[in-house]
Amino acid sequence: MTDSAKDKTVFVAGGARGIGLGIVHALAADGFDVSFSYRSSADEAGQLRDGLQNTYEHQTFQCHQADLSDRAQVDTFAELIAATDNLYGLVYNAGGSYDTLAAMVDQDRGEALFQLNFWAMTRLAAAAARPLMRARNGRIIAIGSITAQTGVQGNSIYAASKGAMLSYIRTLAIEMARKGVTANYVSPGYIDTDLMAPYADYRDTVEKQIPLRRFGQPEEVGALTSFLFSSAAAYITGTVIPIDGGVSAGLSVRA
Ligand code: NDP
Repeated sequence: MTDSAKDKTVFVAGGARGIGLGIVHALAADGFDVSFSYRSSADEAGQLRDGLQNTYEHQTFQCHQADLSDRAQVDTFAELIAATDNLYGLVYNAGGSYDTLAAMVDQDRGEALFQLNFWAMTRLAAAAARPLMRARNGRIIAIGSITAQTGVQGNSIYAASKGAMLSYIRTLAIEMARKGVTANYVSPGYIDTDLMAPYADYRDTVEKQIPLRRFGQPEEVGALTSFLFSSAAAYITGTVIPIDGGVSAGLSVRA
């Protein structure tokens, strides 16, 4: 635990499993009070909160149910964030995918994905930005994707939503900078979570294309997020930080 984390609250949207779970664990270990949302993982969320509360008894942990594809529930969660004393930051990690060929996109499904991946993020980021700027301190992090900058077959709408996140975060970073608040975009490659489960049959093939020859782990994204929340990262804003085993650095074609 660092002194700089004491009595500071960080919200994590989508924290009960997968990458969000890695982030919640890392921020808890840093000494932050952590409030995280979940949609369907109620059991996991309750167990996580209770486990963290037992382990870090001088910190506070809360979980809140919110379906972030529902605008009214996003508003309610945003109001909670805005009203939180000692708010220090937001990690927008919740997200979903919609796999289809670019020429076959169904607009209703695409718009629903944008609500979850993009619009909910903008609403929560705006709710956090105002108190953070008043406090002249804080961090906003979006968990994006390498698909924002690298085309992947079947990912057009997912990639577009992640690209929209990136454009928004860069602008937000510029607008908040004079108030001492940073915003950054973490860009994971292939991370070992349920989101990757549909591709299990191709895992060996995919791993051969990754320079480091393996999927990343949620804890590794947690460690990067932890660093971005540290005082050592105060001069980093408006950036895209890949965590992808080298995928975005170039091709790794091997037999
Ligand atoms: P998971 O499928 O394991 O987790 C998805 C998370 O998003 C869960 O916390 C889930 O909550 C939450 N979520 C999904 N839909 C909703 C919704 N409608 N309302 C609120 N919360 C919702 O995926 P990952 O952990 O892998 O993904 C986390 C983030 O990382 C996503 O934004 C994803 O796009 C991104 N990412 C992941 C990569 C990977 O390889 N795994 C690669 C690049 C980016 P609940 O369980 O409670 O329903």
